[in-house]
Amino acid sequence: MPYLNIAEVESAVTALATSYPGLTELVTLPEASVEGRTSHALRITTDPQARKDCVLMIGGVHAREWGSCEILVHLAADLLEAHQGGTGLAYGGCHYTADQVQVLLHRLDLVLFPLVNPDGRLHSQTVDPMWRKNRNPAYGGASRDPACVGVDINRNYDFLFDFATAFAPTATPQVSASPCDPQVYAGPSAFSEPETRNVRALLDRYPGTRWLVDVHSYSEDMLYNWGDDENQSADPSMNFRNPAYDHTRGLPGDVTYAEYIEKTDADSAVLLAEHFCQAVAGVRGRTYKPESGFHLYPTSGTSDDYAFARHFVNPDRGKVLGFTVEWGTSFHPPWAEMERIVLDVDAGLVGFCLATA
Ligand SMILES: [Zn+2]
Repeated sequence: MPYLNIAEVESAVTALATSYPGLTELVTLPEASVEGRTSHALRITTDPQARKDCVLMIGGVHAREWGSCEILVHLAADLLEAHQGGTGLAYGGCHYTADQVQVLLHRLDLVLFPLVNPDGRLHSQTVDPMWRKNRNPAYGGASRDPACVGVDINRNYDFLFDFATAFAPTATPQVSASPCDPQVYAGPSAFSEPETRNVRALLDRYPGTRWLVDVHSYSEDMLYNWGDDENQSADPSMNFRNPAYDHTRGLPGDVTYAEYIEKTDADSAVLLAEHFCQAVAGVRGRTYKPESGFHLYPTSGTSDDYAFARHFVNPDRGKVLGFTVEWGTSFHPPWAEMERIVLDVDAGLVGFCLATA
């Protein structure tokens, strides 16, 4: 199997930190996974003391979306090698100059966390290829059904976590309160899972973070806030914190509820998603679509909406626009195709970072 196993993802991250000591910092995540594994992220910075804007990128959240880890490991290796060697980057027909690489890394810090859910990836790569959740056995009770293990990390963040109250009775958010839901069990409470808390810890540790990109598959999309309903910029009081709108959220095309986002943020989110998609298209012509998360399907408790919600809940926190890449057209493309997808998405992510200027 050419995809990296969990030990290989870890060793790739630590090897990059060892090879580029002047440009990187190996970040040990504070919490072990449910099965006791320690995780690492890689911070890429030309000046650890400077207070630069930061892009946080995470992957390997959903166990079966194997290539997400490779996408982030290769992105780190490409940028570090190009910066050190003073070269540009070529991804198929999409090129970046040496100057662009230098500008990117002098202006931004990057924090890359390629494998958020190591227990799940191990299970997907050795037992059940379609496994999605983590491997927490705590909530299934006496059931022996293997589906009653695990929580969907990307429904476990603190954003409209009580979806039964937040959403309209006829809305169909892709989330479940049943521990035996094989896909989208949200967990007993927000941040019940150590893997979710590790992502929160990175947002807390790097307050300069202005953008979160969560790398998933599949559907060839670049999703931006919000995921619970359509966006609106007219009425700040119509928002996820206002209980007056409970039981109304999540319906498409209605006038009862839409989620508030400042116009400048909405414009910035669309622009960045478009830059990502344009860069992807330049590699070999794949067409990724920029759209809000809600337009894929309504959700609660996702990383991108939690990241953006933080500054509304606590104005002392920096504003973080949240994005979710949905690469490719299947979970486990043949490796030769996955290699091309890595080029597509890494070109897109470099373009995204450059567009944050
Ligand atoms: Zn996913």
